[in-house]
Amino acid sequence: MFQYSARPDLLKDRIIMVTGAGRGIGEAAAKAYAAHGATVLLLGKNEDNLNRVYDEIEAAGWPQPVVIPLNLETALPHQYDELAATVEREFGRLDGLLLNAGIVGPRSPIEQLSGDNFMRVMQVNVNATFMLASTLLPLLKLADDASVIFTSSSVGRKGRAYWGGYAVSKFATEGLMQVLADELDGTSSVRSNSINPGATRTDMRAKAYPGENPEVNPLPAEIMPAYLYLMGPDSRDVNGQSFYAQ
Ligand code: NDP
Repeated sequence: MFQYSARPDLLKDRIIMVTGAGRGIGEAAAKAYAAHGATVLLLGKNEDNLNRVYDEIEAAGWPQPVVIPLNLETALPHQYDELAATVEREFGRLDGLLLNAGIVGPRSPIEQLSGDNFMRVMQVNVNATFMLASTLLPLLKLADDASVIFTSSSVGRKGRAYWGGYAVSKFATEGLMQVLADELDGTSSVRSNSINPGATRTDMRAKAYPGENPEVNPLPAEIMPAYLYLMGPDSRDVNGQSFYAQ
């Protein structure tokens, strides 16, 4: 496991957006960030999931979060502009952005993968990720040291049969992270890195590996050290790097 011990007030007073915050790894990250002092903006598709995470953060006595329902498969450009305008109006800046939401799509050979399915995965995993990073960048630049974390995968670092659009989308995500990091390097207080969470006990993992015993993989809460390290000021000089959370 990635070794890092976060001090309790690591993210005190920081404003951090987490996409896919309603379940899985995003839920664990949202709670870990809130537990370390951040005001977390919970973005996701399913409002009930987001409201549950909101209630649990509030009940724990952590800073009051904000729920932002947005379907990344269908969101239009003006909705990203409105999102950025709302964050600017309410908070005046953004200290962190965890781009975690994603879908796996069908596991099938390229020859049998429909264009619709390929494009759907690219829409959620790549296009929406680009739209969020691009639209929110001006607000990230207003923070003292801001962190953008992209979410990759082992199949986004080496291609593997039957991982179709998902693997391609994760290669693209690494590419977006690197291009952004190079643009920011030395010119900005914002940094851009990626995390491959590794096999983690979530709905997505169960869907991709239906025959696997889920207990062999760590819970999302167990892989949080890498997510805390990259979001907090201890990584302020780290830019353009690909991390593995386990
Ligand atoms: P889950 O399937 O458990 O959760 C996916 C999250 O993404 C949910 O919060 C979901 O929100 C959100 N999401 C999906 N589609 C949309 C959409 N159209 N609009 C808005 N939000 C959406 O996945 P994991 O937690 O396992 O994965 C998180 C990230 O980690 C992904 O990027 C995944 O590719 C990556 N990853 C995971 C691994 C694993 O083993 N679990 C391994 C390698 C990478 P909602 O609840 O609203 O549907």
